Amino acid sequence: MNGDNLTAEPPADHRVSQLRRACHGVAPLDARLEPWMVELLTSRRDEVREAIEAYGSPVNVLHTPPLKRQIERLNHVAAERDLPFRVYFARKANKCLSFVDSAVAAGAGIDVASEQECRQVLDRGLSGDEVICTAAIKTERLIRQCLQNSITMAIDNFDEFDRVVEIAHDSGHQPVLAIRVSGFQHDGEKLWSRFGFDVDDIPALTEYLSRDQHESLKIAGLHFHLDGYCPRQRMSAIHQCLPIIDALRSRGQPLKFLDMGGGIPMCYLTSETQWQDFWRTHRESLLGKREPITYRNHGLGLVAHDGEVSGRRNVYPFYQRLIQDQWLAMILDAQADETGSKNRTLADALRHRDLQLRCEPGRSVLDGCGLTVAKVEFTKQNRCGDWFIGLAMNHTQCRTSSDDFLVDPILLRSDEPACGDEWRTPGTGYLVGTYCTESDLLSLRKLQFPQGVTAGDLVVFPNTAGYLMHFKESRSHQFPLAGNLFVDGPSDFRVDDVDLPRSSNR
Ligand SMILES: *Cc1c(COP(=O)(O)O)cnc(C)c1O
Repeated sequence: MNGDNLTAEPPADHRVSQLRRACHGVAPLDARLEPWMVELLTSRRDEVREAIEAYGSPVNVLHTPPLKRQIERLNHVAAERDLPFRVYFARKANKCLSFVDSAVAAGAGIDVASEQECRQVLDRGLSGDEVICTAAIKTERLIRQCLQNSITMAIDNFDEFDRVVEIAHDSGHQPVLAIRVSGFQHDGEKLWSRFGFDVDDIPALTEYLSRDQHESLKIAGLHFHLDGYCPRQRMSAIHQCLPIIDALRSRGQPLKFLDMGGGIPMCYLTSETQWQDFWRTHRESLLGKREPITYRNHGLGLVAHDGEVSGRRNVYPFYQRLIQDQWLAMILDAQADETGSKNRTLADALRHRDLQLRCEPGRSVLDGCGLTVAKVEFTKQNRCGDWFIGLAMNHTQCRTSSDDFLVDPILLRSDEPACGDEWRTPGTGYLVGTYCTESDLLSLRKLQFPQGVTAGDLVVFPNTAGYLMHFKESRSHQFPLAGNLFVDGPSDFRVDDVDLPRSSNR
């Protein structure tokens, strides 16, 4: 499958190859680019440069329409199967409030994971039924906030349950509750998790709910969120939730939804061949058969020992085929092998029970919604011959829990380089950042600059809206956080409300 058919409309090829020409990995990994990105980086280059001057480096440049498109596609998959369905956008993946607004405009709710995230969406005018709180740790203040606004809380454990019951009792509110479930069986193994009630502890939960003092507790739904992106694990989890829902309903609990969490996969790259070549080349480097393609031969999770490479890639699967709405469709169309329900799909099994399916995508609905731009401040060559390209940016501004972001940056060359143009000759090097640690590299990958690179140029990291911008961003050395600018209109560069002083972000 070619990545181009994943975008709304393929941008003119020559502009794209022009953009990619000035920088790519020694083993290239071409980024999928949305048409708005191509437009911005070609026709509106000067505005990007002005934004860097006005707001400092780096800046995050964002665009909401792809979010809406992705939510609509998920809705469409459910509608085709006549299944009641709602997306709850997991806003921890990007803090900007413009995404909250456009998710709501597309008919989605919001999944919040902290008191601040929750407060901000309430300030945005959302009502309780449009919000689910899945915070890992729920403080008393957060619980009160949820109770006062009838926000669904996904309950993780008995302590939390007791706390919610007690505060609800004191304040006279009726809590809206979902139960987070985990520990599903899959392919003969248990899917261990730190979150939620283990499926094997459901009897204890049922007993808890049947106690006299818990008589008035109403469970509105079940919730799970699995690590990773495996569709078959979701099928197993949905299968195993159905009898739990049936059993709770038979005890009078009014469950109306099953929430399958996030983890919908997306694809950052255009070429599967490049992805495979990258890993093959990397293995050869680790085995010492060729020059390293990562900084100091960083393994990205792999290690070489006695001529063998072992370990697991510690990175997001930046190239994958089964993604987005097609991934959801595959799950919904899987066989529900319940007794007496021959040829029934999971969608049928849910619909038959009059259950609403919910999901909480973060990263995947932000596909194509943003990029990060930083300014080159210097280039220098070290004694080994590698170049260092110094960016006004640190690694927390483009990083997740993956060891590296395996997508080629784009170089926007300055017409008026700040420091002469002696390094307008081809070369290879590494992007280094502002933190005073040896490890502050913006990418571990060795990059090639066929037309050189010099101070005053801009480096663009494509498709960073999902997690890469905000999940790990820190203010070490007291550097300010990056500005967040939306380019939804033809002339605007609008600062997101989350950057305004009254928001609780700063
Ligand atoms: C992080 C998280 C999500 C979003 O996951 P994505 O991989 O970004 O789709 C959804 N629900 C819960 C409970 C989460 O912790």
